[in-house]
Amino acid sequence: MIHFDFKHIEELICRSGSIVVTSHHNPDGDAIGSALALAAFLRKNRKFPSVLVPNDYPAFLKWMPSGDQVIIFNKQEERAREVISNADLIFCLDYNALNRTDKMEVDLRKAGAVKILIDHHLQPELNDFDHHYSTVQTSSTAELVYRFALGCGWDHLLDQEIATGLFVGIMTDTGSFSFSCNYPDTFRITARLIETGINPEKIHRQVYDTYSENRLRLLGFCLGEKLTVLPEFSTAYIALSKDDLNRFHYQVGDTEGIVNYALSIENIKIAVLMTERKDRIRISFRSKGDFSVNLMARLHFNGGGHKNAAGGDSFAPLDETIIKLKDVLAQYRDEIARSSY
Ligand code: 5GP
Ligand code: MN
Repeated sequence: MIHFDFKHIEELICRSGSIVVTSHHNPDGDAIGSALALAAFLRKNRKFPSVLVPNDYPAFLKWMPSGDQVIIFNKQEERAREVISNADLIFCLDYNALNRTDKMEVDLRKAGAVKILIDHHLQPELNDFDHHYSTVQTSSTAELVYRFALGCGWDHLLDQEIATGLFVGIMTDTGSFSFSCNYPDTFRITARLIETGINPEKIHRQVYDTYSENRLRLLGFCLGEKLTVLPEFSTAYIALSKDDLNRFHYQVGDTEGIVNYALSIENIKIAVLMTERKDRIRISFRSKGDFSVNLMARLHFNGGGHKNAAGGDSFAPLDETIIKLKDVLAQYRDEIARSSY
């Protein structure tokens, strides 16, 4: 995040007629929260940005202010394409490479707009973006959006709507302030958000205490019947087939957070959740301490992310993916054994 020229960015924003705020495939709380917050900041600067994400986001985020204005690419493809091609300026939030936007990638690459990255993932693809506001030394993209706004001189524009989006981003990306939160700034900024009068307890309830019965029973099934512990690799994994998901009437977001339960076992350093999707096995990796699941996801599972939280895809069937996971873990056996947490 060195040499970020806010003056130039402010001028860019000022002269852009059409601004789009985008985020990644399978948007989470940080993706939606930071995008809605930045859009609201821009509206206060008399700009009228569109918010655009590749696919739908979970019901537990649908209550957020102005959430109804989010354009979902795979549901409104024609409109989304038009918005991208007409854009003068595109903000790219919470992703480090354009391929994280799935089917939106082709249009984003074709777009003539200037692209500004605001993100906290490792190893950003710098060539995909014109300006980079990126660091891993932060809790979330939401925190970076606040710092970006501060840099632009917008702090006085912070209101409850913006603070709500930013709070959701920080809260969800830190697992309710339990990881990625060893930074004093995270708490300073959070305090500033709370000063606007938002109700953190209520926001927490709206996100975490709104499970459907099916979702809670799916969690029970995962822990009771699907959790496999591999003590030799200090790893625990859960693999869910399409049938498993159908049995519990899976809705977008229902598997969110399940992988963290596997990581909560004593002496477990790595947790993996594999879910069978239409055309791929989606994989979530989590780790405690030194061991980097970013590298494992990047090198072996077409993915990446953060040191302690990453995602990836496998295009082999579920049973083969489990075998591959065990093979890969075997390659890292010594490193896992040595890693401290
Ligand atoms: P999740 O397991 O929750 O899907 O993802 C964990 C973290 O890794 C998130 O911060 C997410 O943005 C990132 N991530 C997930 N999948 C991928 C991927 O395929 N590539 C990269 N580079 N990052 C990913
Ligand atoms: Mn994030």
